[in-house]
Amino acid sequence: MADGARSGRSTDSTGASGPPGANGSPDAPDSIEYEGVGVGTAAVAGPVARMGRPLPEPADVPATGSVGDERAKAFAALAAVAADLRARGAAAGGATADVLEAQAMMAEDPELEDGVQARTDAGKTAARAIHETFAEFHATLAALGDYMAGRVADLDDIAARAIAVASGVPMPGLPRRTEPYVLLAADLAPADTALLDRRLVLALVTAEGGPTSHTAILARAMGIPAVVGAAGVLALADDTPVLVDAATGTVLARPSTEAMEAAVARSCAASAAAAATGPGRTSDGTEVKLLANIGGADDVPAALAAGAEGVGLFRTELLYLDSDQPPTFDAQVKVYKDVFDAFPEGARVVVRTLDAGADKPLPFVPLGEEPNPALGVRGLRAFRAFDGRNEAVLRTQLLAIREAAGTSAPEVWVMAPMVDEVTEAEWFCELAAACGLDVAGGRVGIMVETPASALTAGPILAGRTGFASIGTNDLTQYTMAADRMLGAVGALQDPWHPAVLKLVGVAGAAGRAADKPIGVCGEAAADPLLACVLVGLGVRSLSMAPSAIADVRAALASRTLRDCEARAARAWEAATARDARKAAAA
Ligand code: PEP
Ligand code: MG
Repeated sequence: MADGARSGRSTDSTGASGPPGANGSPDAPDSIEYEGVGVGTAAVAGPVARMGRPLPEPADVPATGSVGDERAKAFAALAAVAADLRARGAAAGGATADVLEAQAMMAEDPELEDGVQARTDAGKTAARAIHETFAEFHATLAALGDYMAGRVADLDDIAARAIAVASGVPMPGLPRRTEPYVLLAADLAPADTALLDRRLVLALVTAEGGPTSHTAILARAMGIPAVVGAAGVLALADDTPVLVDAATGTVLARPSTEAMEAAVARSCAASAAAAATGPGRTSDGTEVKLLANIGGADDVPAALAAGAEGVGLFRTELLYLDSDQPPTFDAQVKVYKDVFDAFPEGARVVVRTLDAGADKPLPFVPLGEEPNPALGVRGLRAFRAFDGRNEAVLRTQLLAIREAAGTSAPEVWVMAPMVDEVTEAEWFCELAAACGLDVAGGRVGIMVETPASALTAGPILAGRTGFASIGTNDLTQYTMAADRMLGAVGALQDPWHPAVLKLVGVAGAAGRAADKPIGVCGEAAADPLLACVLVGLGVRSLSMAPSAIADVRAALASRTLRDCEARAARAWEAATARDARKAAAA
């Protein structure tokens, strides 16, 4: 029995005897509690689904094929397993790839091959030779103590896969489900955990393994709550509802509503406390960068004090609203550098190039008379229009950003405001590349502020544009045809409007499809509930006034990605902004 598992038997309401390690729970007559080692702090509830059953032990019958055939079949099976593990590693990447590479090397271990060959030479079938050889190694490793015993799950997994291949049957593996579930298994091998669908797997529960098992290591790395070594838990039938509490290391089968509410409330409180500092993430570990909106170096101390992971919107035009003359290259290098130097290596600072026109007229960027400036020459348009009359101003700014970023610690990204379509985005990328900015590295992007750019985010992101940041202030203005400067239509300026959310969703999906970052830097990001909805729509960074960061961090930390997606789906279906807010809050 695993460390920490309670001994003894209990009786459930059906009168059936409970398994070892299980305890009748006092708060619901047919609840049974299993105790193991928790990984993480979250508590989640859902139905269990078990790993595919392992294959039966191959019979020890004389081989029908020749000795050479059986040997070749066994070696081919091991090679196929090693190749499959490497392919899974390549698909998963990161630390998982290293773990799977180590397991692939185990499948190719010469000592194991010698054992298999000796047995096929003695007339065993390929499947039986693999089984006996791996069983022998299993016993040796298990005898070596805790850490090596943790590797026997890897060995058993390789054996099961190789026997399946040698026997011509499918490899055992994950349940095929479309609804969220708690994955239940004796133990999990890296190959199984590597391809877990984070949106479906709420938690991992294993009957075996300890804190150094791969299940525990990978659950931690993937931010999935887990309870490992919960002896007896395999007695649970598929679809039994369970409450998995990683903080207490318990699995409660058929929990009462009260037990669930108490555990989830405790987990939310813990997440909120943890969220007081540190990077943004949902309770199940999805990273959401929390960045600050700033107008210059003066705003940086507040951003740092709030724990911002960088800057998501540096509104550079605010520095020059009163200037008659374009700022010089040297003057800009200095102010940009003051901001960049305040952030450490690994932080991200997104500089928006001058957003001239409409609500932010710049005297040194002449645009002519316009009856309707919000629909006129503004943002990036101001530098492309009039045969490039103002282009030199933008070019100088890009060169200054490049110069200031050159010796700074953080990653400096640059984006253009008010981009409508791919031709504009490509024009901006071309100019940025000519000014030495890292277009190929994905650090040059655009703002999505109009329905046009949201709806064509796919083609835009398929090009050289490295990322997109959704400006929900302007996106709302243009979606609702309601001037953001005009109080009379202020009620329509609500980013909760489902039309706006749908556009965010389209841009979010385009970002996922292109595997390029999508953020929000409008005011919507500062509303804690709306921030969760935006994450549910695919947004993975939120930039806001520094004062809003703590609340948004706490809101995210108390919800899973799945919960954010569910809230987003409900808001998306609503008819009005009011209904969307209500539906998301429900
Ligand atoms: C926006 O439009 O949402 C945005 C962030 O840019 P600004 O408010 O500066 O126009
Ligand atoms: Mg804007």
